[in-house]
Amino acid sequence: MQCGNGLQELEDTLRVRGLTTGHSPQSKPLAQMGGLVATRSIGQFSTLYGGIEDLVVGLEAVFPGGTVTRIKNVPRRAAGPDIRHVIIGSEGALCFITEVTVKLFRYQPENNRYFGFLADEFADGVAALRELITAGYRPSVCRVYSPEDARQHFAAFYQGKNVVVLVAEGPEGIADATAEAIGELFAGRPHERVDGALIRQWFENLNWGQDKIDAEKTAMLENAHLGYTTEVSVSWSRVSELFDAVMSRIRGEFPRAGDLTMLGAHSSHSYQTGTNLYFVYDYTIRCSPREEIEVYHKPLNAIIVEEALRLGGSMVHHHGIGKYRTPWVRQEHGSAYYLLSTLKHAFDPRGVMNAGTIFPLEPDAGAGDSAS
Ligand SMILES: Cc1cc2nc3c(=O)[nH]c(=O)nc-3n(C[C@H](O)[C@H](O)[C@H](O)COP(=O)(O)OP(=O)(O)OC[C@H]3O[C@@H](n4cnc5c(N)ncnc54)[C@H](O)[C@@H]3O)c2cc1C
Repeated sequence: MQCGNGLQELEDTLRVRGLTTGHSPQSKPLAQMGGLVATRSIGQFSTLYGGIEDLVVGLEAVFPGGTVTRIKNVPRRAAGPDIRHVIIGSEGALCFITEVTVKLFRYQPENNRYFGFLADEFADGVAALRELITAGYRPSVCRVYSPEDARQHFAAFYQGKNVVVLVAEGPEGIADATAEAIGELFAGRPHERVDGALIRQWFENLNWGQDKIDAEKTAMLENAHLGYTTEVSVSWSRVSELFDAVMSRIRGEFPRAGDLTMLGAHSSHSYQTGTNLYFVYDYTIRCSPREEIEVYHKPLNAIIVEEALRLGGSMVHHHGIGKYRTPWVRQEHGSAYYLLSTLKHAFDPRGVMNAGTIFPLEPDAGAGDSAS
């Protein structure tokens, strides 16, 4: 696909042929293939299909100076380091991606089974996901929402509790086996079951097109009220600690805590060794619009990033570093930042590519940074 092809358009074309990319970020109606690869994006069915890094098999990119690189499409190879990863997630700071080749899967929605459960504690919901994933099951969707976050999505049935959402997907035998394992796991837990049809209905209306973006912009301007997110990842053993630390620091330390109208989180992408936490926060803006980022978004984002790093996690799970998280990029990578900064110096020595994204604007001081 050429970089400017929209994912929605690609999926619509594939699905009538019984195929899918397996990539379904909430931004599917808005995002293009180049942007999805550049940001190292992830979709709602990631536990089964993986993130974009698991789906890309071939690439073409143009580097500053005009060098065009094509990375060929092969099932696997051991011909040196995997050079796709120099490009995937480079956020326009090293090269411009012109073409992307992704895997295709059979599209079998008729086999999907939807599940919802209510948990008293966030930690209980996380424990259930951990049990399922580490036992080897791969439901395509595997999520838990804190009550504050759940209220935005499941107001009709959440009952003030944490909501666990699961989807079993794949060939019939695999979907059935996954559904059976989910049934067995929750039979042994005190979580109330939600009608799967409600979860299915919710999924079918989850994605954001331009209409929702426009409606949100209008509401923001009319009400001076804004919502933001910061997503991080951490090992299973530290998830609850991270959740509690962020909640308590924001409520206790953030000087504008009184302006928050919602503070919650969900885990939406899980792995053998851990999961992500996607913190969501809404606030009423009580300052000039120009100050809003400094007064609200940056300090809230900083608390979440600091806590994720303190607990040995990553400061960014899937939105990319962009410009707001560059101050922590050296801390994120530690001694491995040498590899990243060397790529920047080698491929973009004049710093013409997306300045200030991933790489801080001020000169590097560490080893391997002498080209700056
Ligand atoms: C409503 C909403 C929901 C979202 N949901 C998800 C989600 O579920 N999962 C997820 O991972 N992300 C999500 N995102 C974040 C983001 O939209 C995605 O990560 C998506 O990949 C961005 O693609 P885009 O084409 O819109 O890129 P843009 O927003 O246009 O660009 C993003 C970055 O990539 C660079 N870039 C774009 N194209 C290229 C190219 N061809 N070559 C090199 N660099 C390039 C840009 O310079 C920029 O730094 C969401 C965003 C919104 C607004």
